[in-house]
Amino acid sequence: MTQPVPLIAGNWKMNGLAAAMDEARAVAAGLGATPARVAICPPATLVERLARALAGGAVLVGGQDCHPKASGAFTGDVAAEMLADAGASLVIVGHSERRAGYGETDAVVADKARAALRAGLEPIVCVGETLAEREGGRALAVVSEQARGSLPAKLAGRDFCVAYEPVWAIGTGLTPTTPQIEEVHTAIRAVLVEMFGETGRRAPILYGGSVKPANAAEILHAAEVGGALVGGASLKAEDFLGIIRGV
Ligand code: PEP
Repeated sequence: MTQPVPLIAGNWKMNGLAAAMDEARAVAAGLGATPARVAICPPATLVERLARALAGGAVLVGGQDCHPKASGAFTGDVAAEMLADAGASLVIVGHSERRAGYGETDAVVADKARAALRAGLEPIVCVGETLAEREGGRALAVVSEQARGSLPAKLAGRDFCVAYEPVWAIGTGLTPTTPQIEEVHTAIRAVLVEMFGETGRRAPILYGGSVKPANAAEILHAAEVGGALVGGASLKAEDFLGIIRGV
């Protein structure tokens, strides 16, 4: 296993034409000495070009999703093996936009995490409660159940991350308080240790949801926060670098 160093991963979502690669190059050029691992997850169309452009440097390239199967009649989908073949080393699975927009269940997410491992990719498995679930006092129960259902047993002894992304904080400018983040991350850690023992102690738990340069340092230094999954603020090199400097 790799050392449990923090991971700052940018999720470009469905943003980025070829010109956006300049932002990724600027991240690589501006990184300097950081204790963090840094990754950019561009749209699938840019994975190979970005991996070539960043080859030999410190910035890793990841996918945003993968199909559970290695190949077959799945029009429009991308296999984990294809991402690896294109130069990716990580892949996000179970993002709330996939869970909500494509009906992905915990079981599907677990299948995708297994596919990532099969292809030699490090999965970033996302969990997070909706606003109604938080307001109903069910955030911890929902997130713990998602983690149990989305993390396959095969992750034991392997490199993986969990990303806690409250659905209501994604792209909204809202963030949980630091104690709220710590409470959920501590609950996720307990699930990880229960499921995976030592592996579960070491897996980074990223926070995601409206992370910006202004709030990054406080979030990244909260208990059990092992990095960040960053959406909007990862699209501009200056903002993404500002977050990385918060580690
Ligand atoms: C995300 O979609 O993973 C995310 C964290 O988005 P944002 O940073 O824009 O809230």
